Amino acid sequence: MKVLKFGGTSVANAENISKVIKILESESKKNKIAVVVSALGGTTDMLIEAGNLATNKDEKYIEVFQNIVNRHINTVEELIDNKNKQAVLNEVNTKLEELKQILQGLYLINEFSNKTIDKIVSFGELLSSYIISEALQQTVKNASLKDSRELILTDSTFTNATVKIKETTTNISSFFKKNKDKIVVLPGFVSRNKNNETTTLGRGGSDYTAALIASAVKADVLEIWTDVSGMYTANPKLVKQAFPIEEISYQEAMELSHFGAKVLYPPTVHPALQKKIPILIKNTFSPDEKGTLITKKGKDKKQPVKGISHIENIALLTLEGNGMVGVPGFSKRLFSALSRNNINVVLITQASSEHSICVGIFSSESKKAKHVVDEEFVYEISKKKIKPLLIEDSLAIVAVVGDNMKNHQGISGRMFRALGNNNVNVRAIAQGASERNISAVISHKDIKKALTALHNRFFEKQIKTLNLFIVGVGNVGGILLNQIKKQQDYLNENLLLNVRVVGISNSKKMIFEEEGINLNTWNEQLQKGKKQSHKLFFDTIKELNLSNSIFIDVTANEDVAKTYKNYLRESISVIACNKIACSSKYSDYKELKDLSRKYNASFLFETNVGAGLPVINTLNNLINSGDKVTSIQAVLSGSLNFIFNNFNDTSSFHDIVKQAQAEGYTEPDPRIDLSGVDVARKILILAREAGYKLDLKDIKNQSFLPKESLEAKTVDDFYNTLKTEESHFSELYKSAQNNDSQLKYVAEFNNGKASVGLKEIDKEHPFYNLKGKDNIVLFFTERYTEQPLIIKGAGAGAEVTASGLFGDIITLGRN
Ligand code: ADP
Ligand code: ASP
Ligand code: MG
Repeated sequence: MKVLKFGGTSVANAENISKVIKILESESKKNKIAVVVSALGGTTDMLIEAGNLATNKDEKYIEVFQNIVNRHINTVEELIDNKNKQAVLNEVNTKLEELKQILQGLYLINEFSNKTIDKIVSFGELLSSYIISEALQQTVKNASLKDSRELILTDSTFTNATVKIKETTTNISSFFKKNKDKIVVLPGFVSRNKNNETTTLGRGGSDYTAALIASAVKADVLEIWTDVSGMYTANPKLVKQAFPIEEISYQEAMELSHFGAKVLYPPTVHPALQKKIPILIKNTFSPDEKGTLITKKGKDKKQPVKGISHIENIALLTLEGNGMVGVPGFSKRLFSALSRNNINVVLITQASSEHSICVGIFSSESKKAKHVVDEEFVYEISKKKIKPLLIEDSLAIVAVVGDNMKNHQGISGRMFRALGNNNVNVRAIAQGASERNISAVISHKDIKKALTALHNRFFEKQIKTLNLFIVGVGNVGGILLNQIKKQQDYLNENLLLNVRVVGISNSKKMIFEEEGINLNTWNEQLQKGKKQSHKLFFDTIKELNLSNSIFIDVTANEDVAKTYKNYLRESISVIACNKIACSSKYSDYKELKDLSRKYNASFLFETNVGAGLPVINTLNNLINSGDKVTSIQAVLSGSLNFIFNNFNDTSSFHDIVKQAQAEGYTEPDPRIDLSGVDVARKILILAREAGYKLDLKDIKNQSFLPKESLEAKTVDDFYNTLKTEESHFSELYKSAQNNDSQLKYVAEFNNGKASVGLKEIDKEHPFYNLKGKDNIVLFFTERYTEQPLIIKGAGAGAEVTASGLFGDIITLGRN
């Protein structure tokens, strides 16, 4: 014999019930079956709501009641053949009339006891089982209905009754011994006490009804049919990557369900385990999928973590005080006080100093807990031996579960590292003595991030998702998006990186898409986006709270640079193309470096110097490996190099600068390049990265520009001065020619001092042959004494800059 249970969603309406009937028709050809059904999905909640409204004299209860009526009547109308329809409608209406009278009674007496709650909610399962059995009998001969209340006997703890196992088992087994029907339909959830009053088995209790029957008749299998394809590695509604666990042990299933995997009501496992009846979780809407098999052994012993679950609405109670140290009995009194008042303890931790005890309970009970515990310890509190009970709310528990965790080292290390790396603060920790479960109490707002991070850590070791938020999607930013789009598949396959762009913004608009923006249409989407604001951009990223979030600044904007610290403080890594942050006050630069270390978030800015050339990375490697930089000589301005390489006696300086700007080699304001400020910032950043404490004002800047150009107020004025001062520039060129030299704009750093300026470079010098927009950097160090370490190549241009940013992204991904 088999026992099948169908949950609320599976029997939510006529269409779904028809699917259930199909499954039953095919099953009944092979086996005798007992079918336990829940109320039509959502009915239990509606019944409780109607009861509460009526008790509070709120006439809206009539509306809710009418909804309940309509759902059931519609289901009958659609499901039952004309021949029987009227009879079934009459019976359903009689039951609904009875319900209506109870609700009217509540309205008059304003009292809604647990006993009455049970009376009311029982209508859900009583109605559904009646309708389903009638529908079933239309096609299956030998099908019947049995009221579970006649079989399942409990104590009188209404709404959460304890089953009297012995009597119940006898009742069930003798009933099924006598009954010869192929299918017996039974309402889940409902039971009775010895006075024949209706009780219920707790929310979600239909699973338990089915387990009690399976155990009593020693069924071959207990099948729980629901709306998902098994017990998943994590709640599939929250973790997209979760997948059904093929096989799992009773203990693991119990632990996961205790810690929030709602797919199985926790008490269900015990009766099945005792008789070694396998439990199979199946999907009514995808009956061909395998589902999850729960057995004694489970499978895949090698996999230490089988699933991750979580419980919401948790409050943490802390009892602490010096008076507790070495005095026995405090915990006992705490737990007795809680238990006397039916407050369920979900999690316990105790500091080894005995100075405090910390327990997790459901938030709904925190007020009551505060009251009863403070009352219990009123004397000790008045004597200041302990403090009044401390309550922290809005918390949740996440738990990783697996039978075999005890044989593997380092699981908790991995768990807490994954949480820590994602800035999930852990408030309390508990590990079951069986080592089958490690639980952490975290803030409610972090649930999704924590589950995703843990799932990623334990089940998707392969693929790491990077969530990018890019500000500034003009020239370089746009090319970066294009490069990412082209490379996504490669990264997925070869580096196991899933790079997705979740947010982008330009100076006017911004858009977000949690699953990743479509990089084919980002431009059109952005135009329809929200109005841009740095604050809102930050707030949204914080709110999304995704693991491995990376903020990327592809602007030259000072206000954006000022926001980096906010990101780092949230453990969000920052990649900057923008040089402003690293070349502003030393204390600002230092603060960012410190925050990056403190919050375990990277701060990368390779493209600040030499665009995509690996200048900073190389320098970092030298320093980290113990080398010391003594001198740096460099040509660091792609734009100035382009200008001086193209400027000669046949061209005008003005036109060459215009051309450099048109080709995107200069900053939007060319004065930043030509004044030498841009180069000064770069050598400053290199000096700082080499470990020297320098500020921009410490860098000697001998400008080659005439006074008029330096003083120009606008970009247009500046260009005009380049025309009027043409002779000044041609003089510079001629002088270099006469000395057999080339003009190069050089940055130097020697023994702690830095300078920038235009130089005539003779033929022997490595700078002499520098072409086009190339950059070159010479590092002289304690290890590279005679011959410097040289880095040379294109040091400007959108493609190479974007590629440098991309390099930083990948560096982060591989960390
Ligand atoms: P039913 O009405 O069929 O009893 P429930 O709503 O009680 O269904 O349980 C199924 C739901 O449990 C799923 O829809 C899912 O949202 C939730 N759930 C939570 N954790 C898990 C998990 N680890 N695996 C599967 N489902 C889970
Ligand atoms: N109908 C009850 C509930 O919603 C029992 C169940 O569906 O398992 O809690
Ligand atoms: Mg359920």
